Amino acid sequence: MKGRIFLKALAAFAAVIVTMAFSIYFAARNHSHEINEIEGALLRGALLALLIAGFLAALIAQTVSARFQRIVSFAEQLSKGNLQARIGEDQDGEIAQVAATLDRSARRLEESFTALKESRAQLEVFLNSMNDGVIAVSSDLKVLWANHAMADLVRHPVRAGTPVIELVRHPDFLNALQTVLATGRRESAIVPALLGMKAFSVTVEPLPDGGAVSVLHDISEIERVEKTRRDFIANVSHELRTPLTSIRGYAETLLDSEEPVNGNTREFLQIIRRNAERMGRLTEDLLVLARVESGEEKLDLQPCLPKRMLEESATAFQESARSADVQVLIDPAPDVPVMADSYAIQQVLANLISNALRYAQNGKSIVLGAKEQRTHVEFFVRDAGPGIPSEHLPRIFERFYRVDKARSRETGGTGLGLAIVKHIVLNHGGTVRVESAIGHGSTFFFTLTKG
Ligand code: ADP
Repeated sequence: MKGRIFLKALAAFAAVIVTMAFSIYFAARNHSHEINEIEGALLRGALLALLIAGFLAALIAQTVSARFQRIVSFAEQLSKGNLQARIGEDQDGEIAQVAATLDRSARRLEESFTALKESRAQLEVFLNSMNDGVIAVSSDLKVLWANHAMADLVRHPVRAGTPVIELVRHPDFLNALQTVLATGRRESAIVPALLGMKAFSVTVEPLPDGGAVSVLHDISEIERVEKTRRDFIANVSHELRTPLTSIRGYAETLLDSEEPVNGNTREFLQIIRRNAERMGRLTEDLLVLARVESGEEKLDLQPCLPKRMLEESATAFQESARSADVQVLIDPAPDVPVMADSYAIQQVLANLISNALRYAQNGKSIVLGAKEQRTHVEFFVRDAGPGIPSEHLPRIFERFYRVDKARSRETGGTGLGLAIVKHIVLNHGGTVRVESAIGHGSTFFFTLTKG
């Protein structure tokens, strides 16, 4: 660069000197007697001027090129990531202005970068202080970053670039990651027996520029407490079965005995029998609920035709429908099979139909049906009963949640029927919902995957 500046400066000086020399030469031509002397003087003068011009050009080239060189090496430093590099130009002129502007930009860049580094460090401290495992993966399922808790969980230092499958092999976890990467939508799942037989609640969130971040929350302790609770309820219910059967048996024996029982005693015996029956139903429902809630029981999933399932359930309730003066109708059902444990789904339909019969008014009918959807078939049980006030709808599937406690007890309800329905359907990977309006009956829906 220095050579080019030198040549340009020299050419400029030389042009000036030659022009001046020619002007003087033409001006002096009229005085022809002195021309030889003038020519000699001009030649010497021009040579001297050229010498001075060369020296000046070299000086200018040296200073300008040194200033540019500083800018070039500053840019090189910056491109290598040294944000502290500055030009530090202390002269005047355009070059100095450019240098000052570049220095200002570099200073701002450094400040922003420092702020970014600080907030990243804060975020890392924050994420590392969490008990939950956090892992971010790229779109090709390689680790981008993981917190300390995650490294503890996998009992391995987590290095960026490691394929995530080498750290966590559970198919449910990998499926959740892949689904989020494919759909760009948040996913959450309960993954049992992940990383050393612990249960985790896993949430996966897509990252803005591809990839995903997952948070693994250890729920083994909650699961353990839940299991203890379920086991306790199942054991108590089981232990109550025998004494309840014998209480009911003795009450029935006394009521049926040939010896006369006076009015009061008969009434008391009937109350004992009724309550023993109610407790019997309650213990049975508690046992079923404990079983389906645990999800431990393996479902025997087989392709089943919705029409057949609905017909079987309707037939089982023919007798009680007739005595309640209610008609059970079946809407035309789609001819596609669904994957179902037929015994468990019969229980779902039985609970919904028995509720519908209990709440349907005399002379009215209840309608069973199924509608095909894209991946599922949605079943429904509709009654023309009193309907359910909207404020109760969000909680209706909770255990022991009853809209009208007295009426439920009166009609032999346990408050567990819909909770059992919900858990059986969830175990099938389906969903439950209800539509109802006061005075317009209720429709309970549940979905099953197409087979
Ligand atoms: P229960 O044994 O009391 O019927 P469920 O869990 O089956 O318990 O139902 C919970 C509550 O939901 C019931 O107590 C009742 O208030 C309401 N419910 C359920 N099904 C219907 C229905 N078809 N019509 C009106 N209310 C209903």
